[in-house]
Amino acid sequence: MSTVDDRYPVARPSLSDLEERYVVDALRSGWVSSQGRYLTDFEDRFARRCGAGTTVATANGTVALHLVLAAAGIGPGDEVIVPALTYVATANAVAYCGARAVCVDVLPQSWCVDPAAVRAAIGPRTRAVVAVDLYGHPADYPALRELCHRHGLLLVADAAESFGATVDGRPTGALADATTFSFFGNKVITSGEGGCVTTSDAALAERMRLLRNQGMDPHRRYYFPVLGFNYRMTNLAAALLCAQLDRADEIIARRDAVVAGYETQLADEPALSAQPVVPGVRRAPWMAAFLVGPEGDDASRDTVARTLDRLGVETRPFFVPIPELPAHRDPTAHCPVTVDLSRRGLNLPTYPDLTGPGLKTVVERVRAALATLA
Ligand SMILES: *Cc1c(COP(=O)(O)O)cnc(C)c1O
Repeated sequence: MSTVDDRYPVARPSLSDLEERYVVDALRSGWVSSQGRYLTDFEDRFARRCGAGTTVATANGTVALHLVLAAAGIGPGDEVIVPALTYVATANAVAYCGARAVCVDVLPQSWCVDPAAVRAAIGPRTRAVVAVDLYGHPADYPALRELCHRHGLLLVADAAESFGATVDGRPTGALADATTFSFFGNKVITSGEGGCVTTSDAALAERMRLLRNQGMDPHRRYYFPVLGFNYRMTNLAAALLCAQLDRADEIIARRDAVVAGYETQLADEPALSAQPVVPGVRRAPWMAAFLVGPEGDDASRDTVARTLDRLGVETRPFFVPIPELPAHRDPTAHCPVTVDLSRRGLNLPTYPDLTGPGLKTVVERVRAALATLA
């Protein structure tokens, strides 16, 4: 293979004339801050699309998580159960409340939190469970809902990576007590930075709107009955997001084609295994995810990633287990599935504009990188 001067990033947003038109329109209207028509449009349309009662738009996905937990009154002395395999924001949001994130293992057949491990971790201090739809695959909400209901726990879905996914036809956003989304630049749809919470719990939503706006009394300006936050989204970001919502079906279809393309074209590679999908689940095409090598192989993934980088293909290793991170370190956590996935998992370039020929080139380079393993 010749040296390459074309590089494939792991993610790239799809931004059309429509995004430009809406953002310019918001700009010219003067409504660039945290009020405006695009904000109310976005909140209405997003809730409808998800089949949720309401949407609370936020500045990003991390503060969306914090907002839910804070609105639910989670604080010092409380415990919140989270999967050990997730982006750090899930655990950070718990820590921002002064509560403890209790990490449990994920299932090999979905890479999402194991309901049996959640059940085993429930104790007298447990207040909530935050499930994560890892790499676009929804967690087992029917089992988690039943469990949380029985123990009086709040069930939060971190759907930052799963916009567009469904379980038995029901979209993420309506599968838990509250669901958080992220619209960071590499997510399924984006506003650069942005996020939201969907819920059908009117009291929780009202509390979130209060806390999002610095805790200001809606009936008495500049009176702040509680300690709140500035977690608002701007109308400019919402304008971008409205265009992404208009184009969401097209964006998802093109991402689906990329993920399906990798899975078909790389199906005969014995050293790769594709992300498993549970029956009844329609996964969101966030980032194509594969495992490199057999269970317990903790070296091949990094070798392949290094070779691919030299060949002009950017990849991402899976998340480092939360209990291995300094801020959340827990040497007592026993999460063997998480540890194995974390060592073997690799994300490949996934974005709507990665079309046939580009995908074919990436596939050829992946094959070349795998050939150097043996
Ligand atoms: C992206 C992401 C978030 C939050 O992201 P922000 O960058 O704060 O918008 C939270 N959880 C998971 C699992 C994510 O992938």
